[in-house]
Amino acid sequence: MASVQYEAEVGGESEEESGDVDHMENYEAQPNIEAQVHEQQDGSHSHVVITLTDPELFDCPICYEPLTIPVYQCDQNGHIACSSCRTKINDKCPFCSGSIGFNRCRAIEKALESITTSCQNMQYGCKESVTFNKKGEHKKACLYSPCYCPHLNCKFVSSAKQLYQHFSSSHVNSATQFEYYVIFHVSLNADDNFLVLQEKKGGTLFILKRHHVEDLGNAVTISCIQPGFTGGFFHELDAKSKENFLRLESFTKSTPSRLVIDDRPPKTGFLLIPFDFISSGGQLKMEICIWPEGASPSP
Ligand SMILES: [Zn+2]
Ligand SMILES: [Zn+2]
Ligand SMILES: [Zn+2]
Ligand SMILES: [Zn+2]
Repeated sequence: MASVQYEAEVGGESEEESGDVDHMENYEAQPNIEAQVHEQQDGSHSHVVITLTDPELFDCPICYEPLTIPVYQCDQNGHIACSSCRTKINDKCPFCSGSIGFNRCRAIEKALESITTSCQNMQYGCKESVTFNKKGEHKKACLYSPCYCPHLNCKFVSSAKQLYQHFSSSHVNSATQFEYYVIFHVSLNADDNFLVLQEKKGGTLFILKRHHVEDLGNAVTISCIQPGFTGGFFHELDAKSKENFLRLESFTKSTPSRLVIDDRPPKTGFLLIPFDFISSGGQLKMEICIWPEGASPSP
């Protein structure tokens, strides 16, 4: 079984439990959970090293999400539930059918508040340490959340920043370079379904993706490769035929995943470009401008 070491803040004298050396190897196998094994002392408070033999100890046993305060427990046997599960289970403990009312589990709550863990994205560069109570909240907002390289057959995964550097050094010739605010031209050949767009200065990658819509044309989207909770860009996408002109002005969705280049049709934020916009050589030509949120499209 994997064990994990955590740091707890306690009053009184500093102690250190000896870490089990055999278990250290498990950190490599479990990259999401890292340990802090150093000891600090600042007068009144000291830190001890704690080894958890169950890494899921501070996850809700019903929904498996990290526990946050308040934590409730069943009256008969002390089984615990997070507050959102408590409201879903109709006051009935799923483990022993006892009742779960508003009895709090203060001991677990205290542990959640006083034991810190390093962020699970430590391997991608995050240096934050958070209490277990804040673990879920931090995870949802961590700027080092993993993003996936969009290059076909490449398995590189890291933070958005490191992915940009990786793309620059490993696949620079497969991206279209552009600058914010400057209109640039792209052309998709008949058998290409996506293009990687690489901003020269800002360190951000975008994906232009087209999806064939039967009998109609191409649904084209532009997405930013960064954690889904980060926003921050607008884009303008233009297409011209002999007689028509189409423009989409849209907020740019963010996604860390390469699923953006899968074959499901987009549901929102796309420009539907009819087949008559495609050149006789099979190329779909477009003009694009991308700019950061909070600024105007033309400087
Ligand atoms: Zn739960
Ligand atoms: Zn119970
Ligand atoms: Zn983090
Ligand atoms: Zn790659």
